[in-house]
Amino acid sequence: MIRILQSKARIGPALLVGLALLSCVRSPKEIRRVELLMGTEVDIIAQGKSEPALQAAADRAFAEIERLEQKLSRYREDSAISRINQQAGIAPVAVDAETFMLVQKSLEVCRESSGAFDITILPALLIWKIDAKNPQPPADAEVKEKLKLTGCEKMVLDREQKTVFLPEPGMGIDLGGIAKGYAADCAVKILKDNGVSAGIVKAGGDMRVFGGEGKGLAIGIQNPRASGKVLAKIYLKDGAVSTSGDYERFYIFNGVRYSHIINPKTGYPVSGEASVTVKAQSGIESDAWSTALFVLGHERGLEVLKTRPGLEAFFIEPSGESHSSQWFRENLIAVSGD
Ligand code: AMP
Ligand code: MG
Repeated sequence: MIRILQSKARIGPALLVGLALLSCVRSPKEIRRVELLMGTEVDIIAQGKSEPALQAAADRAFAEIERLEQKLSRYREDSAISRINQQAGIAPVAVDAETFMLVQKSLEVCRESSGAFDITILPALLIWKIDAKNPQPPADAEVKEKLKLTGCEKMVLDREQKTVFLPEPGMGIDLGGIAKGYAADCAVKILKDNGVSAGIVKAGGDMRVFGGEGKGLAIGIQNPRASGKVLAKIYLKDGAVSTSGDYERFYIFNGVRYSHIINPKTGYPVSGEASVTVKAQSGIESDAWSTALFVLGHERGLEVLKTRPGLEAFFIEPSGESHSSQWFRENLIAVSGD
């Protein structure tokens, strides 16, 4: 049994895991490792036949996430994403197939979410200085100005040449809303290819679970206004869960909360929801859509979900009021007194 998870153990900011998981597995061997990658804590829990084999599998899975970070991080000057950004308004940039696929997938989710998920948000995101020591909101005029440099339809993608072109100087892309979920998918593939029979990869608020038996893993959903407290849980055997919220990366200025997710329609941080937890088959889907649905809000978001089987969401408003799609309505278990 994977029992790294003592009751209410905190394995990250957005998702908390309680109870045991993956029961009835024949092999008793299990490891848990945590490393700082992609600007967050990455947890890997792996179960299989021998401990040395599990350690080797985890080494490879972490190396895979590091590989992706080097390629996809906008904070690294030599990443594929930075090369695209450095050439904005200058020239198309040839990228590898994986980077191209992620940009293309991001464009697809941008269209499917009516522009709520938009990786070209970067110029409008940077002016909010979310990671600065004493951040202040920008002037309205600056927001308007930067918003002109955004819009996923401006990106010019050439499928044949695998090039990405940002046509205006000052444009930029940021895969922060999709890369961690994709990295979790890739790490799970490595674990499976290396003989791991069951496990978890969790990168910040994005989590993949596989090989579960019985009820599966109990995943706690954090109360967005009470740090470390769980307000509900779900069980998952195989699949992905991501949470986007306004309670990890944010600042408060003159009593107003400013979060790291920007509404591409306005250029202002989203304020309608406190968190959105999404369940999907893959991390790339759950990650991109948790960000998209956070922007869309519960009313429009639940409408969109009706046309997207396999995607489910649980919204919590700043007031504490919550809204669920069908799967969450049927499977969410309230955790009281926590
Ligand atoms: P997540 O925690 O997955 O919801 O991703 C949030 C991150 O995505 C932010 O820190 C930004 O890097 C980026 N981001 C912010 N707003 C948007 C948006 N509207 N669409 C896509 N990515 C965004
Ligand atoms: Mg996301």
